[in-house]
Order: sequence, then structure tokens, then C-alpha cells
Amino acid sequence: MQLQTILNHVEHYKSFVYRRVAWDEQSEEPTLRVEIESRANGRPICSGCRQVRPGYDRLPERTWEFVPLWQIPVLFVYALRRVDCPDCGIVAERVPWSHGKHRQTRSYRWFLACWAKRLSWQEVAMVFHTSWDTVYRAVRYAVEWGVVHRDLSGVQALGIDEIQHQRGHHYLTLVYQIDGQIRRLLWVGQNRTREALESFFELCGDEILPTLKFVCSDMWQPYLDVIRARAGDAVQILDRYHIMAKMNKAIDEIRAGEARRLKEDGYEPVLKHSRWCLLKRKENLTTKQTVKLRDLLRYNLKTVRAYLSREEFQRFWTYESVAWARKFLREWCTRTMRSGLTPLKKVARSLREHEDLLLNWFKAHGEISAGAVEGLNLKAKLTMRKAFGFRTFEGIETALYHQLGHLPEPEFTHKFC
Ligand SMILES: [Zn+2]
Repeated sequence: MQLQTILNHVEHYKSFVYRRVAWDEQSEEPTLRVEIESRANGRPICSGCRQVRPGYDRLPERTWEFVPLWQIPVLFVYALRRVDCPDCGIVAERVPWSHGKHRQTRSYRWFLACWAKRLSWQEVAMVFHTSWDTVYRAVRYAVEWGVVHRDLSGVQALGIDEIQHQRGHHYLTLVYQIDGQIRRLLWVGQNRTREALESFFELCGDEILPTLKFVCSDMWQPYLDVIRARAGDAVQILDRYHIMAKMNKAIDEIRAGEARRLKEDGYEPVLKHSRWCLLKRKENLTTKQTVKLRDLLRYNLKTVRAYLSREEFQRFWTYESVAWARKFLREWCTRTMRSGLTPLKKVARSLREHEDLLLNWFKAHGEISAGAVEGLNLKAKLTMRKAFGFRTFEGIETALYHQLGHLPEPEFTHKFC
């Protein structure tokens, strides 16, 4: 069997034929050259307007990188025709394997992009003997294609989250779809400002608003304002994960302060190594941590009181009746305000302020998944950690869309990856 037969099997073009396959004399490492010709009766297509146009002349031969075969690089070789187009002037023809000035064929770029979901970009570049930059551009290309071709109809619930990137106080605003079957990243915005979220609604609002029922976020005021203004018909919900995260932060602050004080006063360091047994969910504790927690609970420490207070608050999410949930919330806040646990009091105060939004949680009972935003946030963090090496917003944006966007891909006769 000839290589042309295989090529026709994986990628067949109506108006072009694979002619000769030979070693490339100019390459240092063994490289295959696949010469392509236009069919005698095939007339060129204008790359500007995609109409069949009369030929004008031929450009010198050029090459495109195709998917490597058994780790042997493969080059497509073809001399582009120029067309004389009444609308676009004298321009190069359109060829099905590539467009524009890209040095890689479409298939090869999708191939690299696909691998870049499984490996880091650096690894992909290494494995396929190409540059990091080529991999990045392939991913960017796949993301741009996917964003244009994705379907945003039927989105019912949004989750809005912010995430820290780089060191220091750089934030991104992430908007997820968190309903029913599909959980995906819809949008990445620079900063966590009012403007950042505004531009999401600017861009996707028309498509999303008609079916939107719930919007879930944390208590960050700029977000709350934009949601109210832009998606007023949807029920606004405070995300459970964010609230519990705030409480954990408060507990951690109390623990750190208390541990320092105990040490200064010369007491036994009972709080040493206690951080995770206080912050983790009970069912996730290791045996050692469970023992440590049991031990800690015997002391009348502020940390322990804060811990118990948070555990008690978990009950809030299990109520069936809004009225009882409201009663519980108010009592919990009153008790906490009297507790002398300053960081936790701050949380209680903001919960009080947002009582209505908190109680909206029960309107969405069962309709949106409680852990959706948390799960996606975790994945986003992982992607960013793997994504070190590119510091620009565009790089991070591309990586996040690629991993979390569930973006569509074109149909190919053959799947290379
Ligand atoms: Zn044209």
C-alpha cells in the first residue's frame, strides 16, 4: 500500500491529489515530503470570497506541517495559485488543509490542541518536536473556533466566581454554566470589577437571558450589583461553597491568632498541626486528624467554638422550609454576634445583610448542583498551576477555555488524536 492511499483515507480532498511522497532533502532529520497538485479540471477558489475564480498565476512552492507519521515529520508541499477576483483583486487561492499564513495544517493544529488537553503545553512541544509557541497558537486557534461555534441556548444557571492568579492581588472573573447536564466555563474576564462582569452580559446576554433562571455568586458587591441590573429576572443566589469558604477563612484567622497567644503565654501547643482537621469536612479527615480533632474539642478554645459554630451552620442548607431556615439564620447570627469571635462576627454581619439572597438558595433547591462552582474552581486552579510559563492574560484565558469550556470541534473524517 502506498502512503497516498493512507492519506486519501484520513484526509481526502476533492480538487487536489497527493502526488509524490519522498524524503525531504533539505531537512536535517528524516522528514517526509508529500507533494500536492490541483486536479486538472479543478478551478481555484478565492480565499477572500470563497467563489470559484479564474486563475492568475502560481506562487513559489511552500510547505505546511502535517500530523507526523510514526514520529516522522510530514510536510505538505504545494504551489498556491493566485486568482483574479473581481471582488477581492489578485489573491491567493483557498486550500482545504490550511488558511492564512499558518505554517501548520488544520489537522495538525487540532492534533496539537487535542494533546494539549492531556499534557502540559511544554510536554506536547517536546513529544512532537515542535515549539511551545506552535502549541500555544494551535490551542488558541482551537479555542477561537470553539467559542464562535458553541451553542449558548438553554443555559439556565450561571455560577460566577473569582480566582486569584499570579502572586499578589490579580483576579479573574469566571462565569460558568452550572445547570443540568452541562457544566462549563462560559467566560473569562480580567479583574473582578463591575466592568469585567458587565462585559460578559454585553457579549452573551442576548443569547443567555431568555432561558436564564438562576445566578449564583459570592457576596462580592460589584457582582451582586451587576447581576441585579443585568439579570433581574433570574433568582440571585449566594453560593454555598463561597459562604463556607468565608467561614473557614475566619476560623483559620482565629486559630492562627490563638495559637500565637498560647505560645506567648507558654501553654502547650495544642493547636499545632490542627489547621486541616479544623478546615476539612469531617468525612474527609484521616484517622490521625480525627484523633487530633477529638483531642482539641476537649479544650475551651476560641478556635473550637468557632469550629462548632461553623458545623452548626451546616444545618442551614438542609432546611425544607424557608421560614425555618430564616429563623435558624437569625438565631445563628445573633449567637455569633455575641460570641466574641471577631472574624466570625464579620461573616455573620454580612450574612445578615444578605439574608434574602441567602434564602433564595431554597428556591433553587435541587435545580442547581451545590458543588458545581466548587468543582469547576478546583479544575481552574489546577489548570492555572499547570499553566505556569505563560503570564499573560491571553495565555491564561486560552488555557482555561481549552480545559473547562467544553468547546465544540469540527467534524473530521479521521480522528488523529
Ligand atoms: Zn474573491
